Order: sequence, then structure tokens, then C-alpha cells
Amino acid sequence: MNYGNKNIRKKGNVALFGLLILANTIVCAQNEGSQTLNQKGFIGKALAAMATSNAMHRWNEMCGRWMNNSGSPASEELQKLAKEAQTAVGIPEERQVPIMVTDDPDVDGAMADRKAIYVSKYVDDSDYLYGTKRCTLFHESVHIKYHDMSCSMIPTMAGFFGAPILTRALIKPQGRLKLLYPISMIAGFYSGRIVQKKYRDYYERRADIEGHYATGCHVCVSEHAGELRNTLDYINQGLETLKSIENPNDEQVAAAKVCEGFIEGKKRYLSPDENEIIAADLKRDNKVCALHENQAK
Ligand SMILES: [Zn+2]
Ligand SMILES: [Zn+2]
Repeated sequence: MNYGNKNIRKKGNVALFGLLILANTIVCAQNEGSQTLNQKGFIGKALAAMATSNAMHRWNEMCGRWMNNSGSPASEELQKLAKEAQTAVGIPEERQVPIMVTDDPDVDGAMADRKAIYVSKYVDDSDYLYGTKRCTLFHESVHIKYHDMSCSMIPTMAGFFGAPILTRALIKPQGRLKLLYPISMIAGFYSGRIVQKKYRDYYERRADIEGHYATGCHVCVSEHAGELRNTLDYINQGLETLKSIENPNDEQVAAAKVCEGFIEGKKRYLSPDENEIIAADLKRDNKVCALHENQAK
């Protein structure tokens, strides 16, 4: 009996050690990823292998088991682009997901869920630049490839469940000290949230970098960079105007907050300049998509 308990504790320690390494890897990856456009280092490769593994795919299926896709199927143009994007970033046929149009106000642009890529009606509109559409779908496809939605939950869950196990393994609290269990659970949860946030910063950059290179078109990436630059300029100008108002009303204060939130949120992604670097790389290698090649003729 004793032997069995020791065995379980030993396994628990090994599991915890693994989780700590995972958390550390994610934090390091985020630091590495925020400085460079090259995420092909050891940490990037280790995370990629973990995120595309069969175990992670099963975990993703488990997380999405009770979820049904909502919205309506996207236009034929987007269906074709999403298929092309998922194949190009290396998602095996059986793991590819459909693309849906949603009127969910939380989806401003596009979002990769566990079983589908969602786009707003705006993206499915013909006015949207082709290059931006293509870059957006390639970005979302990279999220699907790495099961980012399901993968990012792991640090928080590991913190929540792992911290009490760690407390038991290290301190073995008795009597009143048993209060350490719920405390460690809460501390573990919030530590996990910090790691989760860092991982999110990392995977947004990864989706941009890997997705943009996979488009294989300097014009597409350039169009996307231009549109991003225009949007950021527009929002920054709006914010400046709002801030110059001496006695702003509630609506103006709220609008300034929305602008600040937008600018802050965009920091997780590649900047327009970084997008241009990728476009220049693709141009140097004469990479251009079929549509832009035809247009140039
Ligand atoms: Zn994203
Ligand atoms: Zn193109």
C-alpha cells in the first residue's frame, strides 16, 4: 500500500516537473518571439512539436466535443482561400476546419475556434483587400494548426490543479496549515493566467510570422501591411483628437478607451514595419500568388 502511494507521488512529481518546464518554455518563447521574426529556435520547435502532437489534437477534440459551429458557411471565395491556407501551413486534411461567417460582435475580423474559423461579414465582403483577406486566413490557419485555443488553456489548468499537488509534495500541510491548499490553488490559477497571457502574445506573433511567409506572396503581405498602417494611423489620429478635447463627455471618454484598447491589442501582432520586412523577404525570393501574378501581366 505504502509502495503504491509513493509510486503515485513519484509520478505526480514527474508530471509537475513537466508542467513547470512547459510554463518556463512558454515564457521563454514569448521573450524570444517578441524580439525576432525567426521562431525556428529550439524553444519554438519544442512548442510546435507539442502543439501539433496527436495528444494535443485529442485534447482539442475533447474541449470542442460539446460545441456546435454557429453562423453560416462563408462565401465560395473564402472557402477556397481557407482550404488553400490550411493546406499551405501544413494542416493534414483530416484536421482542417470549415470557415463560417458570424454576426457575433466579439469577432471583429476573424477568429480561430476549436472546430472552425469564424470571420465577420466585413471580411467576407468584396471590398476587403484580397491580400488582407489572404493574410487573415493564413494567420487563423496557423492557430488551427497549433490548436492555440485549447493549448493556451493548459497553463491555467495546470496552475489550478498543479499548485495544490506541489504544496502536498513539498510541504505536506497538517491542521490549520491545510488552508494552504485553497490558497495555492488560487495562486496557481493566477500564475497560470500570466503564463497563458504570455503564450497568447507568443502565438499571435507566430501566427503572423508563419502565416505571412506561407502566403508566398509579397503583394498580399504588402497590402496587409498597408491596411494595418492606415488603420493604426486612423485610430491614433482619432485618439489624439479625443485627447485634445478639454472637457470630454462620457461618450468621448469611452471612445478614447476603445482606441487605446485597440492600439494596445495590436501590440501582440507584428507591426506594419515588421510586416514590410516579411514582404521584402518574399519579394527578394520572387514569391507572388496566382492572382497577383495575373494582375501584374
Ligand atoms: Zn490570431
Ligand atoms: Zn497575393
